[in-house]
Amino acid sequence: MYCRKCGAELKDGDIFCPKCGQKVEEEVHQETVRQEVVYKRQRDESLCNVGFIFCVIGTVVLGFAVFPLLWCIPMTIYVYNAIKDKKPMSVGLKVCVLLFVSLIGGIFLLLGDPDE
Ligand SMILES: [Zn+2]
Repeated sequence: MYCRKCGAELKDGDIFCPKCGQKVEEEVHQETVRQEVVYKRQRDESLCNVGFIFCVIGTVVLGFAVFPLLWCIPMTIYVYNAIKDKKPMSVGLKVCVLLFVSLIGGIFLLLGDPDE
């Protein structure tokens, strides 16, 4: 390592140039800061990538959680209306309820309304 100002050779750990008194530490410090900035930028990018991956996973999981609601809600409303209005419920509907909405609920519907 050499002095930035006068070019004299510096020993490791020298804070000031022994010849001209130029502060050595500064340059090293700036280099360290630059490396920290680069490191920080890289780390932030990878964090963002991880965040993005979790966004994708969350979207897929939410998608699968919301998708059943598309049939669970209408089927439950249909069963509610059928019971309220004393309308017949087909065996197919009850089996679908059993399979896709509620296993126990479907069994109770089959037991409670055995006419068809
Ligand atoms: Zn010097």
